[in-house]
Amino acid sequence: MPDVEISLDASILNDDAAHPAARAPGHQPALTGCPWHDVNEMLQAAGLRPTRQRMALGWLLFGKGARHLTAEMLYEEATLAKVPVSLATVYNTLNQLTDAGLLRQVIVDVTKTYFDTNVTAHHHFYLENNHELVDIPDPHLVLQKMPEVPEGYEIARVDMVVRLRKKR
Ligand SMILES: [Zn+2]
Repeated sequence: MPDVEISLDASILNDDAAHPAARAPGHQPALTGCPWHDVNEMLQAAGLRPTRQRMALGWLLFGKGARHLTAEMLYEEATLAKVPVSLATVYNTLNQLTDAGLLRQVIVDVTKTYFDTNVTAHHHFYLENNHELVDIPDPHLVLQKMPEVPEGYEIARVDMVVRLRKKR
């Protein structure tokens, strides 16, 4: 339904006053500068059909630079942006985008899983007081000694989450 597509597009763009890059022509962020177009390309390249819900959620996720979001946070943003999705759909979409390599999962603990729009290798600080995940700027942070890996296996990735709390 083309009408629905257009109205959804417009309502999301209008709701996002805090994203001047999407409005100002000439100021081009990464990729082509049109998040809507980029999300479409990104989904297609990953072999995912650009459904209305994937487009809307992808726009919220990828339209604002590198971010760390939980499913609940994205669900709240979607609700505020008047995107009609359920929390279950948000979970499914996040998992599909992760499987497609467009997002990286960062598991802080059993109750908190973040989705990172930056899929390059990097580690995180977790600020326990405000439940916030922050990139560790040094990409060369390494373990002093890697553990022995069982025969037939190789290390796929090392995720380091350094938990921080405010000093008392
Ligand atoms: Zn990150």
